[in-house]
Amino acid sequence: MKNSKPAVETNNLSISWGELNVLNKINLKLKEGEKLAIVGPSGSGKSTILKILAGLILPTEGELSIFGEKQTYLRLDQNNPPDVRLVFQNPALLGSLTIEENVGFILQRNKKLSKKFIKEIVRECLEEVGLFNIEKKLPNELSGGMQKRVSFARALITEKNLYKNNHPLLLFDEPTAGLDPIASSRIEDLINKTNNKVKGSSIVVSHVLSTIERTSDKVIMLYGGKFRWAGSIDEFKRSNDPYVFQFRNGKLDGPMQPKEI
Ligand code: ADP
Ligand code: MG
Repeated sequence: MKNSKPAVETNNLSISWGELNVLNKINLKLKEGEKLAIVGPSGSGKSTILKILAGLILPTEGELSIFGEKQTYLRLDQNNPPDVRLVFQNPALLGSLTIEENVGFILQRNKKLSKKFIKEIVRECLEEVGLFNIEKKLPNELSGGMQKRVSFARALITEKNLYKNNHPLLLFDEPTAGLDPIASSRIEDLINKTNNKVKGSSIVVSHVLSTIERTSDKVIMLYGGKFRWAGSIDEFKRSNDPYVFQFRNGKLDGPMQPKEI
């Protein structure tokens, strides 16, 4: 994938909610195929970055390009939206739709695709995440873990002609928060599998060290609206940078203090 445009490039991107400046002129570059973890304390703006990249909210200032194309609209207002898939912190399935309808949602918008074709792709994607014969169920008939896997199946849905760029940008918001270590390992495997399958670039937001280390090549530390540290996973493990040290060891003293944001 050399010579390809970066999956993400921001130039002094900022967003404020009233007085609160959540992101302050951040410059993020993600090459195609790269796997990045963004870490930082609660409220530091990690979900906000993902929502901007997914086209759900607009920045207050600055520029954003995805796969080399400048983004100025919310995604639904765009004619040729880039292929960006956000897996939310909670599975965010639509409660009144069946699993099949939830997963096939994106394909149903394309009127050229037959019902049979959509059904087949949905079944394949559910099988990829280890779910069988649940197409007709409603989300609340499944366990939390199964719902989470359905949300991954939704990110796997791919149909070549839907997008110009066939290598999507995958965004995962706290995918293993609140899970036990074994369930976390399964979800981490699933993130890697999803990534390999769609040959995507990914950004994982997480507090969980195993998730950061098992799913990503690079780490960025966000705090107080700025990127404070960036490096490889190996550097992240060894770094004595005060932000990284405090985060990794869960220390109360250090540069990150509750009232600053
Ligand atoms: P994180 O995901 O790192 O925990 P968020 O990105 O969710 O943090 O939020 C960053 C900050 O922005 C928080 O202080 C939060 O309260 C604020 N915020 C997020 N969304 C909104 C919104 N829609 N309106 C007002 N403030 C918001
Ligand atoms: Mg968040």
